Amino acid sequence: MLLGGLASGGALVAFEPALAAMATKARPQFGSFGVATEYLDRSVAPGDDFYEFVNGGWVKANTIPSDKSRYGEFERLGDLSTANTRALIEAAAAQAGATGNAKRIGDYYAAFMDEAGIEAKGARPLQPDLARIAAIANAQQLAQAIGWINRDFNASLPVNVGIGVDQKNTARYATSMSQGGLGLPDRDYYITDQKAFVDARAAYRKHVSAMLKLAGLTDTDARAERIYALEDKLARSHWTRIESRDADKTYNPMATAELVAKAPGFDWMAMLREVGLADRPTFVIRQPSAFIAFAQLSNQIPLADWKDYLAMRVISSRAAYLSKAFVDENFAFNGRTLNGTPEQQARWRRGVSATEGALGDAVGRLYAAKYFPPAAKAAAQAMIANVKAAWVNRIKGLTWMTPATKQKALAKLAALRVEIGYEDKPRDYSSLVVDRADAYGNYGRSIRHEWDRQLAKLPQPVDRGEWSMIASTVNAQSNFVLVKVMFPAAILQPPFFDPNADPAVNYGGIGAVIGHEMSHQFDDQGSKYDATGKLENWWSPTDLAQFKAAGQKLIDQYDSYRPLPDMHIQGALTLGENIGDLAGLGVAFDAYKASLKGRKAPVIDGFTGEQRFFLGWGQVWRTLHREPAMRNRITTDPHSPGPWRAITVRNIDAWYDAFGVKPGQKEYLAPGDRVKVW
Ligand SMILES: [Zn+2]
Repeated sequence: MLLGGLASGGALVAFEPALAAMATKARPQFGSFGVATEYLDRSVAPGDDFYEFVNGGWVKANTIPSDKSRYGEFERLGDLSTANTRALIEAAAAQAGATGNAKRIGDYYAAFMDEAGIEAKGARPLQPDLARIAAIANAQQLAQAIGWINRDFNASLPVNVGIGVDQKNTARYATSMSQGGLGLPDRDYYITDQKAFVDARAAYRKHVSAMLKLAGLTDTDARAERIYALEDKLARSHWTRIESRDADKTYNPMATAELVAKAPGFDWMAMLREVGLADRPTFVIRQPSAFIAFAQLSNQIPLADWKDYLAMRVISSRAAYLSKAFVDENFAFNGRTLNGTPEQQARWRRGVSATEGALGDAVGRLYAAKYFPPAAKAAAQAMIANVKAAWVNRIKGLTWMTPATKQKALAKLAALRVEIGYEDKPRDYSSLVVDRADAYGNYGRSIRHEWDRQLAKLPQPVDRGEWSMIASTVNAQSNFVLVKVMFPAAILQPPFFDPNADPAVNYGGIGAVIGHEMSHQFDDQGSKYDATGKLENWWSPTDLAQFKAAGQKLIDQYDSYRPLPDMHIQGALTLGENIGDLAGLGVAFDAYKASLKGRKAPVIDGFTGEQRFFLGWGQVWRTLHREPAMRNRITTDPHSPGPWRAITVRNIDAWYDAFGVKPGQKEYLAPGDRVKVW
């Protein structure tokens, strides 16, 4: 396996060496000041191709590891987290007399790694679930099955029942229903005519047939055709991803009786009794027209086809826990065909992910205990305070926003909470039974355990401390209803943050990540939520019109980028993330300047402080993609691909000053064409 650039020589331990090194003024992990300057392509002018200027050497020096569909700093750090976590989990698995979560973690992993035991069982673990589906005899039992699969399986279904904070009353939880149930990544894969998707459709039908055959069904080619036809009908009823990310359009509370009346044909109550929600008076229906269509389809399409379809959903969702033939077929389609990945990840990597999926909070705590010293948290807190202060100044200085709206924006910023490392309160796994000889059963029980945890939340006050990431996650998150941003321990590593790097580079890295997450609270969707997290407009009409016009300019800008010859980035799908990058980079730059307290930053290795800031940003986004993965990502991912995130700089005046970017250069934008959202 290839690791990215310099990091392959770096320590495998994430944080301890970096902090120990701080005391001895050791060198940063990347280059002499935190940027791997040996990877710059100085033959390219920054104003012509900023990404290439920063990362051209890295792009030439790296290839995508054979078990990945894309590769960049997030994947490199992800590998590091996984390797560190593996050691912790294996120690737990080897510990004689372990108890509590250590035993659960060790047993879960050991069961997953017992390939011989899993192989010996073949398709047998599936049989009780498939027998239940085979026994479905009427519409009511079909609805019940969609209920128990919702509850006991991690499978996307035509109706996905969920529990979350009520967006209009953030003191309580609400129940919701979301569309889903497609085996291909998106409705576009069924509907659009580009050759890659036409090919994916043909490969998918073969894959469905192969999976059904492995599970012991007969006449599988014909069944696969009918399953595909069913999914195609579902896909055509679905909302697009752009529609589905609209917080207003998807907030449709409906009395349960009203749902039953408006979407006839499906036995909603039979499904709800199965998931334990028959007594809920109201559901937030995210895509009403899709549910009306589904209820009709549930009647029109023969029951036999629905049964085959549900069998495929169940087989597919459990494939990773079955014998090698299932695992390989699952990877051949989802890994190789859809994402171009040549080889499957090593079993132990899948074992670590599986264990994190089931016992994530407990695993994350082991990671944090070893790799997240208090000093790292303190360093992050200091930077967060500076970025937040820069945000306050930015809002105060806006020329286009009226004072009343500004006051609301400032109130929201003041209410914004920041959490670092991992969730405060430990999750309780004491009722989760983990059997060292039953990988399949462990997985099912862990999903049921999580569903029961969700159900138990319903009558409780909202837990504002909840996280959906763990300490070892290389990512960060913003939550609109809880009005908070979260930074797991594992993102506080180079190139995002290095205590030995020049501060300019850290501001361009983790500073901009902090700015990005804070900015989400003010992106096209986040800005619809007020200081209490309630989905309620706080904008004056003129301010909102101004904000939307700026957003439209950013949509147009990203629509013009073509990562593939026949596909452009979807500006409207990626708008929230692009606002996050643009505003986040801007406030991080302000925070960096403020940190200098009027002093001039030194020139280091020929680079000014401003230049080092933007280099720090640029190197974070170096990423290689396999072609099918890029196609999949452009279709489904609300984030723009890394290289296009790097060139957010085109909208920032300070970048022009820093690198002397002039009219006529390829990435030059006239001042009036630079998008200013915040
Ligand atoms: Zn984001």
